[in-house]
Amino acid sequence: LKSPYHGGHLEVIVGPMFSGKSEELIRRVTRAVIARQRVAVFKPAIDDRYHAAHVASHAGRTIEAVAVRDAAAIRAHLAGEGPLLSSPEVELPEVVGIDEAQFFGPDLGPLVLDLAEAGVRVILAGLDLDFRAEPFGCIPDLLARAESVEKLTAICTVCGAPATRSQRLIGGQPARFDDPVVLVGAQEAYEARCRVHHEVRR
Ligand code: ADP
Repeated sequence: LKSPYHGGHLEVIVGPMFSGKSEELIRRVTRAVIARQRVAVFKPAIDDRYHAAHVASHAGRTIEAVAVRDAAAIRAHLAGEGPLLSSPEVELPEVVGIDEAQFFGPDLGPLVLDLAEAGVRVILAGLDLDFRAEPFGCIPDLLARAESVEKLTAICTVCGAPATRSQRLIGGQPARFDDPVVLVGAQEAYEARCRVHHEVRR
């Protein structure tokens, strides 16, 4: 179970929705727990407070996680709200997992790079592309900086080919390029699609 890397490093797991990113994060974190490593898992929260939560895969597996509003909250949580991350008194977890990493802002990059420098194995899971198939937020930069990248595929719901994209449907229709990322009150759904069957209305 020993990591092939000598010290801290960054592993990134990407792919479209339903590609098994959460499953793969859960798999890696579970192995670290079996090896009795100290592990902390985070995911984005919609409210301001820390709260106990779970990372769940679409297939139903779960692990414990802490829901946080932003990267600063992860930093504060790891520092016990007290001293800074760089302080030698702070005992960091050996492994930090972060799910839905695309929803964290630009502060996520500096945080995970600090953690890797401080000796932590950081495992990020997130969407590489948004519903338009455009690179998603901070993820492209972290893909470039990672020691390890795993790009997963789902199954295209139209043809069964490997799906690399997340199809957004609003009222059953492909979403428009200009639609806001959060549409209040809309009946929306997502499907895994291949390049051929992914549609964005212009
Ligand atoms: P992600 O975190 O990438 O959204 P999850 O780990 O939550 O993925 O879920 C992956 C699971 O989703 C698969 O193991 C499978 O049970 C289920 N699933 C549902 N639709 C699809 C699809 N179109 N292609 C592949 N898996 C799918």
